[in-house]
Amino acid sequence: MALLFLVVIMKALVSENKKLKLIDLPKPILKEKGPILKVLGCGLCGSDIVKILHSEPDKKIVLGHEIVAQVEEINSDTDFKIGDKIVTSHHIPCFKCEFCKNEHYSMCEHFKKTNLDPCGFSEYVYVTEEHLKNVAYKIPANLTDVEASFYEPLGCCVRAVKKACRGNVLVIGLGTIGLLMGQALNAFGAKAFGCDILTDRIECANNFGIKSFHSDDIQEKSFDAIFMTSGADATIPLALKAVKNGGKIVVFASTPKNFGYANNEIYYRELTVLGSYSPSPADLADSIRLLTDKKVKVNGLSTVYDFENVVQAFEDTISNKILKAYVKM
Ligand SMILES: [Zn+2]
Ligand SMILES: [Zn+2]
Repeated sequence: MALLFLVVIMKALVSENKKLKLIDLPKPILKEKGPILKVLGCGLCGSDIVKILHSEPDKKIVLGHEIVAQVEEINSDTDFKIGDKIVTSHHIPCFKCEFCKNEHYSMCEHFKKTNLDPCGFSEYVYVTEEHLKNVAYKIPANLTDVEASFYEPLGCCVRAVKKACRGNVLVIGLGTIGLLMGQALNAFGAKAFGCDILTDRIECANNFGIKSFHSDDIQEKSFDAIFMTSGADATIPLALKAVKNGGKIVVFASTPKNFGYANNEIYYRELTVLGSYSPSPADLADSIRLLTDKKVKVNGLSTVYDFENVVQAFEDTISNKILKAYVKM
């Protein structure tokens, strides 16, 4: 008797020598516990662009992680079932290693290893039972797919916010992440201010309840903490100017030149410069709550692209033509 294996083909986005293309891949098969998810859409993250531009030629990169999806097949001990619309993050900490014990979850080896299979910009993905148990949520009825796609990026912001949420806080850089950060800071009890060099971004931030102004108008030593969301080298001196003595600077973006904060300023002014990278499961739980309660609003931030136009979505993001792309499968 011949066994017939039916290989179903799907589309997925890959990067080859920094060029993006949609290729045919076999649809993932459910071999272990967990679900096969039909991806409904995926947000385009700044880190996807950094990955394409700076990855080594032969290194496999996974593009897309801000997914909104529907359970297509499942073998799980959790309550998730076929047809559920869910969000899930891509990495899960082990909770056992030295990094996890010290709450540096994103430094955990298991965290770095876990991911979506094959990637978020794909028609179907496999995620593990562990994803379902730790970092997945059913999408509440009051959230649209596009709104729900902010689950993971907002989780990243929540982690940063918890590290320096006191008094008057300045967000430098009012792109999507700056807008999420400012609102999350307000939700957690700080008073969020924002600055940028682009007038439309300043206006947008003010509409989201973040009191915002042009970067030229920063007052010296006037903020308890600074959140660096812009990714421009020129913002580092602005942060040092704006922070009060004894204050904190939270680094939340890579910068092209990768140069540091002045040693003597940190020393004589007792500044704390700290990083925050990726969310823990607890931060993600806070994120879905903030979105559901509309404490953080995301309406109007995303431009929606069809999957066949995903390359255009990347181009428009790189050229700053749009604030944030959501790719609909
Ligand atoms: Zn992201
Ligand atoms: Zn760990």
